Amino acid sequence: LSERLGGVFDRLTKQGALSEDDVRTALREVRVALLEADVSLPVARNFIKAVEKKATGAAVTKSVTPGQQVVKIVHDELIAVLAGEEDGDPGKLRIDSPPAPILMVGLQGGGKTTTTAKLAKRLKERDGKKVLMASLDVNRPAAMEQLQILGTQIGVDTLPIVKGEDPVAIAKRAKTQAGMGGYDVYMLDTAGRLSIDDELMAQVEAVRDVANPRETLLVVDGLTGQDAVHTAENFDTRIGITGVVLTRMDGDGRGGAALSMRAITGKPIKFVGLGEKMDALETFEPDRVAGRILGMGDIVALVEKAQQTLEAEQAERMMKRFQKGQFNMNDLKTQLEQMIKMGGMEGMMSMMPGMGKMAKQMDGAGIDDRMLRQQIALIQSMTKKERANPQILQASRKKRIAKGSGMEVSDLNKLLKMQRQMSDMMKKMGKGGMLKQAMKGMF
Ligand code: GDP
Ligand code: MG
Repeated sequence: LSERLGGVFDRLTKQGALSEDDVRTALREVRVALLEADVSLPVARNFIKAVEKKATGAAVTKSVTPGQQVVKIVHDELIAVLAGEEDGDPGKLRIDSPPAPILMVGLQGGGKTTTTAKLAKRLKERDGKKVLMASLDVNRPAAMEQLQILGTQIGVDTLPIVKGEDPVAIAKRAKTQAGMGGYDVYMLDTAGRLSIDDELMAQVEAVRDVANPRETLLVVDGLTGQDAVHTAENFDTRIGITGVVLTRMDGDGRGGAALSMRAITGKPIKFVGLGEKMDALETFEPDRVAGRILGMGDIVALVEKAQQTLEAEQAERMMKRFQKGQFNMNDLKTQLEQMIKMGGMEGMMSMMPGMGKMAKQMDGAGIDDRMLRQQIALIQSMTKKERANPQILQASRKKRIAKGSGMEVSDLNKLLKMQRQMSDMMKKMGKGGMLKQAMKGMF
C-alpha cells in the first residue's frame, strides 16, 4: 500500500494551496486504506466527504507534497472523530457514589471476563478503589470459576458462587454485598452468546434494571470489524451502553472497527485490550489508533517535521529582525495574535523571563481578548506601507485608520506607543542575549 501511495504522491508536487484535484486524488488512496483497515463503507464514505471539504484550499507546507499534506489532514481528522467532542478523559469512569455498579456486556468470547478482571485491577491499583466482581454467566460451565481464579490472581474479591441462582438474583446479591462490604465499585460480568439473540438481550435488560449501572461497557473483539459495529448498535439500542472496550488490539488488525463504532454509535471508546495478561489494558489513545488505521505514520511524521522546521525558520528570521530593533506593525500583529492563542497578555508574559514587569509598564495596553482583537483591527486598517513604517502616521492617516476600524485616534496612539516600547525592548533584550531565551517560550 505504501508503495502505491508513494507513486500517487510523487505525481502531486505542486506547491501552494490544495486544489480539488489534489485532494480527490489523494483521498482515493485514503479511502482504500480505510476499507483495508476494515472501516465500514458508509463510515469511510462520510469521513472522506467531510475531509474533502476541509482539505480543499488548505495550505501546503513547504517541502511537503499536496498528497502528503492531505494525509496529515486526514490523520488529524481521524483523531478528532475517534476522540469525540465531549468524551473527556477516556480512562475516567463514572464511579463516584459508592458502591458504583459497572455492567459488562458483549458477545461470548469477546473478552468480557478478562476485561472485567483487567479493569478491576486497574481501578484497584491506579485509583485505589475497593472492587467486587461478580460473574452472572450461568450458561457456560466454569465461567464463574474463571472469574474467581482471575480475582485471586489480581487480589480482587469475587462474589461467592451459589449454584442454581439466576443472573438477576446474583446481581441483587452483588449489590447487597457491595453495599455492606464497603466496596467502591462492583462489576457485573454477564453471559454472552455467539450471536445476538432475544434471550440474551432480555437477560441483560433484567440485570440492568436491577443494578441500574453507572457505566455499561460493551466489550467487543476489535478484529471482528463490521460485526463489531452491528453488535455495538444492537447492544446500544436494547441496553444502552456508555462506552466501548475494544479487545485483541494486540493482533494484526488495523482497528478500523474503532472508527466505525465511534461514528455509528457515537459512544466513546474507553479502553483497548492488548493481550491476555492482566495488565494488558490501556486507555484508548486516538492518535495511536488513528495512525494504525491509516497505516501512514511515516508520512504524518514527515509533514509534522516539515511544519516544525518551517516554524523554527520563521521564528529565527523574526528574531534577527528584532535584534536590529526592526519591530513594525506586522510584527506586533503577529504578537497580538500569539497572545490571544496563549491566553492573553498574562499568559504570554508568564512564559517570557523578565517580562512580568514589562507587562505592568505597558500602561493602557490591552490585557483582555477583546482589546487584543481591537488592536489587531487597527493594524488591519493600515496600508502595507504604514504597517512596515508606523512612524509615517500623521494626523490625517491616523483619523482614517481609527475610522476604518471603528476606534478612536487615542486608541491608535496607545497602540503606537506599545509598538515603540516593544521595539525598544526587543533591541535591549537582543543585546543581552535575552531575546533568544524569551522567544523560545513563544514559538
Ligand atoms: P468472554 O466470553 O467475553 O468472557 O471472553 P473471555 O474474557 O473469556 O476471553 C476469551 C479469550 O480471549 C480468552 O482466551 C482471553 O484470554 C482472550 N482475550 C481477551 N482479551 C484479549 C486481548 O485484548 N488480547 C488477546 N490477545 N486476547 C484476549
Ligand atoms: Mg465470560
